[in-house]
Amino acid sequence: MTIIHQPALLQHYLAPFRQKDFAIGFVPTMGALHDGHIGLIQQSKRQTKITVCSIFVNPTQFNDTADFKKYPVRLENDIRLLERAGNNVLFVPPVDAIYTSGLTGLENYDLGFLETVLEGKYRPGHFQGVCQVMKRLLTAVEPDLLFMGEKDYQQCMVIQRLIDLEEMEVKLVTCPTQREKDGLAMSSRNLRLTEKERSIAPEIFKTLREVKQKFRQGNITAIKDDAVARLQSAGFRVDYLEIADAVNLQSITAWDGSTPAVALVAAFLGEVRLIDNMSLTS
Ligand code: AMP
Repeated sequence: MTIIHQPALLQHYLAPFRQKDFAIGFVPTMGALHDGHIGLIQQSKRQTKITVCSIFVNPTQFNDTADFKKYPVRLENDIRLLERAGNNVLFVPPVDAIYTSGLTGLENYDLGFLETVLEGKYRPGHFQGVCQVMKRLLTAVEPDLLFMGEKDYQQCMVIQRLIDLEEMEVKLVTCPTQREKDGLAMSSRNLRLTEKERSIAPEIFKTLREVKQKFRQGNITAIKDDAVARLQSAGFRVDYLEIADAVNLQSITAWDGSTPAVALVAAFLGEVRLIDNMSLTS
């Protein structure tokens, strides 16, 4: 695996492959890799000739500085996992190679409704930061295919919006959420859970499964209230549990029997904020 730190060197390295029309796949990450990330690498390897993974803990997307400071860093282990997965290029840029004019006065994207609900509402500025870094990473890598996880459901929608706004050529491929055996969605943040919290955490998945079971016959407001109560009694502090149109994230209050629907949740266990989602109609 080739490890590259500077965008210009990455461009130089990829140029001959581009000339040969080799499809380039890109998997952006913030490191502390797990099987969820490796699943994206594998999907990229199936669909492209060259896979580039980036590890960059993006300072502009953390609305909570404590969360940024505590974000797990495990580069040596990440390199081992990526080599084992057959990843071709690891891009690990320093902050000043991505934000060449500093971290202030950055551009603002018109994300519309998407920025006003769920993660957008509870993490002000977060999606602007995600777009600021993704615009820069996509410009550096210029991939044909971009692989992202459905676990960050709203983020995938935001990135599609960025691609459309900036008229970029890249095609977004979303990949299913990888889970631990007990259902907990894999996440780098799981490393920060205490043993006790880790034992409670799968309750999120179980709650989503219960929401799905009840969805077709139930009263949606009551289903959501029950789900929040279930999480709270397990020890979570719930930011939101929403049932929404899977295409535009508008809240659903009464289901028409055909609209694709998704349940999305964000909740804290101690200091760790976990998110997850589940399709209710597929
Ligand atoms: P992160 O390192 O958390 O920024 O995630 C990098 C990419 O991996 C994003 O596209 C995530 O959606 C994806 N990802 C994270 N966790 C999972 C998971 N459990 N299953 C599938 N994809 C994931």
